[in-house]
Amino acid sequence: MTQIFAAWSKDPQVLRKSTSGGIFAELATRTLRRGGVVAGAAYVSGLRVGHRVVLSESELEALKGVKYLYGEIHRDVYSVLRDALDGGREVLFSGLPCQCAAIRKLFGFSPKLILVDLVCFGAPSQKLWLKYVSWLERENGKRVRNIDPRDKQHGWGRKTYYRYDWMDGTTTRKLSLFDPYAQAFYSGLGFRTCCFNCKFRGLERETDITLGDLWGAEELCPELSRAKVSAGVSCVLVHTQNGHAAFNELDIGRKELSAKDVIAKNLPIVESPSKPVQWENFAADSGKMDFGELVEKYRLRIGMMAYVRSRLRMIFSKVRQRMLGDI
Ligand SMILES: Cc1cc2nc3c(=O)[nH]c(=O)nc-3n(C[C@H](O)[C@H](O)[C@H](O)COP(=O)(O)OP(=O)(O)OC[C@H]3O[C@@H](n4cnc5c(N)ncnc54)[C@H](O)[C@@H]3O)c2cc1C
Ligand code: SF4
Repeated sequence: MTQIFAAWSKDPQVLRKSTSGGIFAELATRTLRRGGVVAGAAYVSGLRVGHRVVLSESELEALKGVKYLYGEIHRDVYSVLRDALDGGREVLFSGLPCQCAAIRKLFGFSPKLILVDLVCFGAPSQKLWLKYVSWLERENGKRVRNIDPRDKQHGWGRKTYYRYDWMDGTTTRKLSLFDPYAQAFYSGLGFRTCCFNCKFRGLERETDITLGDLWGAEELCPELSRAKVSAGVSCVLVHTQNGHAAFNELDIGRKELSAKDVIAKNLPIVESPSKPVQWENFAADSGKMDFGELVEKYRLRIGMMAYVRSRLRMIFSKVRQRMLGDI
C-alpha cells in the first residue's frame, strides 16, 4: 500500500538547488554515502538532456533541478548500472515514470535497486527543447549556459520563474508565463502523443518512490511557517519496502498525508492532461518550422499588456461574483 508524505530537506543549500523539497538530493546522498551509484537527468553537451551516472556528492550537483523535457538515456548508462548491481553496489535511478518502467523491465526487483520516478504532467521532445534553446539565443544575441525553469529566488509555489544563466556571466529571470517554451509546456501543446494517455501514472506504481511538488502545502501542512513553504515542499509517494527503508533513514522534515487530499491538489499523479485542439497542427508544424515561427503561429508569447488585461478581467469577475453572492 502506497503511503503519501509531505517532505522537505533541512539543508537550505539543497532546497535552493532543488525543484520542490530536495528529496531527490537527500535520497541520492544517502546512496552515495553507502558506496552506491546514482543515475539522473542532467544537461550533457550544452543544453541537451541525458542521464548521467554519478559516484560522488560533488558530481551530484549536475543532477539537481528539473529539466522539462524527455531526455535520452545512452546505452552506456544501462551497462554501468548493470555492472554496479552485479558488483553488489546499491543503484538509485531517478527519471520519468516511463523511463523507470523500462529500467524495472530490464533489471527487475532487487533490494539493491531503488527506482525514484516523478509526478509527470507530460514532457516535450528533446528536438522541441533544442529548437527553443537556439531561438532563445538568437532573440537575446548571446549563448545560454544553463536554464532553470523553477528558480526559487522569489520563493516556491504556483507562480514559477525561469532563470537563464548566460555565457557572458549574466543572469536573467522571467515569470514562466512570459516564456514561450513554458507556454508550450503548460498548455500541453508541446507534449509527445503518449503523454495524453500515459500508462505510468497512478497512486500504486512499480517504482519504489515517486516525487512531486506538494501543491496546497499551506493547507495540507498549516503548521509549516510561510518561510518553510516558500523554500519548497515535496510530495513523496512511498510504494515498496525498499522505498520505505530508504525514505525512513533520511534526516528530513516529514508528515503523512491522505492520498485523497494530495491528489485533489495534484491531478497529474493519476490523470493525463487532455489533448489541446491545436495539438495535431502544432506537432506537424514543429517538424518543419523553427521555434520563432511556432511562437508567432501559436501565440506562445504573452505580452505584458495582454497579461495585465487578463489579470484585470479575472479581478473584475471575482469582484462581480462576490457582489452577486452578497445580493
Ligand atoms: C517533465 C516533468 C513534468 C513534471 N510534472 C510534474 C507535475 O505535474 N506535478 C508535480 O508535482 N511534479 C512534476 N514534476 C516533478 C517536479 O518538478 C520535481 O522534479 C520533483 O518534485 C522532484 O523535486 P526534488 O526537489 O526532489 O528534486 P530535484 O533536484 O528537482 O530532482 C532532480 C532529479 O529529478 C529527475 N529529473 C528532472 N528532470 C528530469 C527529466 N527531464 N527527465 C528525467 N528525470 C528528470 C532527475 O533524476 C533529476 O536529477 C515534473 C518533472 C518533470 C521532469
Ligand atoms: S506523461 Fe507519461 S509518457 Fe509522458 S513523459 Fe511522463 S511518464 Fe512518460
